[in-house]
Amino acid sequence: MKTLPKKHAFSLPEGMIYLDGNSLGPLPKGVAERVQQMMQDEWGAHLIKGWNVDDWMGQPVRVGNMIARLIGAPEGSVTMGDTLSIKVYQALSAALKMRPDRRVILSDSGNFPSDLYMAEGLINQLDQGYELRIVAPEDVAGAMGDDIAVAMITQVDYRTGRMHDMAGITKAAQDAGAVMLWDLAHSAGAVPVDLAGCGAEFAVGCSYKYLNGGPGAPGFIYARPDIVGDIQPALAGWLGHDAPFAFERGYRPAPDIERMRVGTPPVIQMTALEEALKVWEGVDMADLRAASITLCDLFIELVESRCPQLTLASPRDGATRGSQVSFAFEHGYPVIQALIARDVIGDFRAPDIMRFGFTPLYIDETDVRGAVDILADILDNRLWDAPEYHKKGRVT
Ligand SMILES: *Cc1c(COP(=O)(O)O)cnc(C)c1O
Repeated sequence: MKTLPKKHAFSLPEGMIYLDGNSLGPLPKGVAERVQQMMQDEWGAHLIKGWNVDDWMGQPVRVGNMIARLIGAPEGSVTMGDTLSIKVYQALSAALKMRPDRRVILSDSGNFPSDLYMAEGLINQLDQGYELRIVAPEDVAGAMGDDIAVAMITQVDYRTGRMHDMAGITKAAQDAGAVMLWDLAHSAGAVPVDLAGCGAEFAVGCSYKYLNGGPGAPGFIYARPDIVGDIQPALAGWLGHDAPFAFERGYRPAPDIERMRVGTPPVIQMTALEEALKVWEGVDMADLRAASITLCDLFIELVESRCPQLTLASPRDGATRGSQVSFAFEHGYPVIQALIARDVIGDFRAPDIMRFGFTPLYIDETDVRGAVDILADILDNRLWDAPEYHKKGRVT
């Protein structure tokens, strides 16, 4: 199989098989040095001048452009900032304003809870009879109707890896007159995305998963360039203003994607992200996708032949799966803890999902085989059934 020659670009602990890059990407080499340099040479030496001389002010869109390339979005259509949950709120509220006669936010039961919670919070806040309608993932396209204001769909299911057809669902939404909002949290850097091609109005995502920006790295938001000038931002912060340093009394949004900025950006964190995104130089998303499917298929084949206790919870067909594989098992939590104790890092999602991310930038066939050897040993010998593996941490 074709492997991507990028493993050397990451600082992975010796001996660790890291199958959790779908949750928190590892540290790319060069990031720690770049952040150190930024602290000394920019913050330390330039202080407030850094906003101009180091262009901290331009960083959200500059970094957004690096992500735009990975999600099929044009230059200047993506900006960074805040958290993904906040970006969901911004996009949703903007979408509702675009369809004032409609009252339904459509989503599916595979969506990540925070997206659904943000929708509920917004609905409560508006208090104008809005409704969050949640259908099964396979029913999304068929659930479009003339009461849907916005379809808010996460392309890749965080639990199972099931992947929606972006072009098909976007078309169904728009044919019904709804606005389309994609959450690309488990897509950006994991699978090829063609935002411009599918024509969705909005997309959001985070940068600490497959994009390796580090814990707390900011979210991103995309708005289709032809609609951005009409968006009415709910979070009308000063850095989304057309002229923040005019300090005008009234809010007047920037003409472009910068209107989706809110307040002061996390410059240190974004410097880490900007450096981390350099690993994508020269990576062809089609090659990445091919490698990801090969690794996931191999993992499924080996686990099914050696660990019959586990039930595949992901689509078997690689074409409808993101870059992760999940297995259901009633003792999934202690099994994952036992794996972590052996330096094979996956994670657990309630109620019974064992989740493994395959990130071909730094995971290869040897890692897959090594992980399955250890998993089979843990299951065959019930090594997971030790008291220390049953203790629940604050984060699973
Ligand atoms: C990871 C993830 C989030 C997390 O949101 P934060 O605000 O960054 O904590 C939200 N939605 C989806 C779909 C996710 O996968």
